[in-house]
Amino acid sequence: MPKRYAHFMESLQLKTKLLYLLLSVAFGLVIVGFVGYYNLYTMKKNVDTLYFGSLIPLNELESLNDTYHHELEVSVYRWNQGLINNDELANNLTLGLEHVNQNWASYISHDKRPEELPYIHYTETQIETMQSYFEEIQTLASDHPHKSSISLETLSDNITSIHTTISKLITYEISAAQYERSTLLAHHQNSLMQLAIMLGVILLGVMTFAWHIFMQIERQQQQLLQSAQTLQHLNTKLEHASYTDTLTGIFNRRYFNLVYEREFKRALRSAHPITFIMVDIDFFKQYNDTYGHLQGDIALQNVAHVLKSSLLRPGDFVFRLGGEEFGVILTDANCSDTHKMAERLRFNVETLDMEHKGNKNLGILTISLGAICITPIAGMNNETLLQSADTNLYAAKERGRNQVVFATTL
Ligand code: GH3
Ligand code: MG
Ligand code: MG
Repeated sequence: MPKRYAHFMESLQLKTKLLYLLLSVAFGLVIVGFVGYYNLYTMKKNVDTLYFGSLIPLNELESLNDTYHHELEVSVYRWNQGLINNDELANNLTLGLEHVNQNWASYISHDKRPEELPYIHYTETQIETMQSYFEEIQTLASDHPHKSSISLETLSDNITSIHTTISKLITYEISAAQYERSTLLAHHQNSLMQLAIMLGVILLGVMTFAWHIFMQIERQQQQLLQSAQTLQHLNTKLEHASYTDTLTGIFNRRYFNLVYEREFKRALRSAHPITFIMVDIDFFKQYNDTYGHLQGDIALQNVAHVLKSSLLRPGDFVFRLGGEEFGVILTDANCSDTHKMAERLRFNVETLDMEHKGNKNLGILTISLGAICITPIAGMNNETLLQSADTNLYAAKERGRNQVVFATTL
């Protein structure tokens, strides 16, 4: 039983370890999931901010339009109305054109998609044309300071034209940015999904593996328990067999030695009486000679059965000590009962009424009994009790057999 318990505990520990392992893996995966999710989220946020934040080149394009309208066009109008002089115009135009150059340079320094390059190139040509146009105005204004030589209509047309060109570029940049952002969001969703699927698959794999091992442990534990049970059953059978006389089925000499020693000690400890009765079949040699050995065996079985069924208390034992000799131990009886018990055994065998011609007295099978009952005292040898019973048995034989000789002293 303790071994079975140890095996059980061992397998239980193994299962617990497995559970811990599984939990650690699951915990690790959850952490990986969180870190992955957080990184993807941060990356998305950064890219989003970068793309739609100050780095979007719309500012430059809008500045370009502003410069054309407010610095360049307005300066020419003001000069035309005489609000500023030639030098101021020249100065304003130089500054405006510089702003245009700076904004354009800044705009084209951003990454460009191949499909927008032709339009950018077209816009650049337009800007260069406008550049030449305003340089011409500058020259005109300094060489011929006559206002009427500059056509305000042409100026307005040119500004409208460059405004339209740049506005188209702005519209394009906005739609391109929106497209890129939706692509980015889709990528982000995909990455999240992939991460979740990957972690789910790993977790499922680990759980399947753990379940497999768990079931294997369970199976092995069951087998182990079954083997232990079978072994215990066999042990019980073996133990029973080693204490049983094969011919009669009652306890054998080996078990008698064990029980006798144990009960003698118990009687000594508790100061209770113990009875030992030695039983021997009368003229059994002749019985064998008359009826054959096989019939002799049957007679032995019958006598054993009668003796056993005559003893009813849990503290009463009967043994085949060897040959046609039996031993009876009574632990639950007072010495005053011993003789009565022995007499009952004798009577019950006699009542079997088994023919035994060799038994001159009655012509049936009988037994002789030597009984002794004492309350053991310290220093008493348990062998003495057996010898006394043997002596009493001898006396019973001497006195004519089929009788009980009983004593309460050694
Ligand atoms: P007594 O009345 O003095 O006891 O005479 P007895 O013939 O019984 O005496 P003894 O002890 O000399 O004989 C015992 C006989 O029991 C001898 C043997 O043939 C027989 N015997 C012993 N064991 C067995 C057995 O297992 N089977 C059979 N059939 N006979 C056995
Ligand atoms: Mg004998
Ligand atoms: Mg005999």
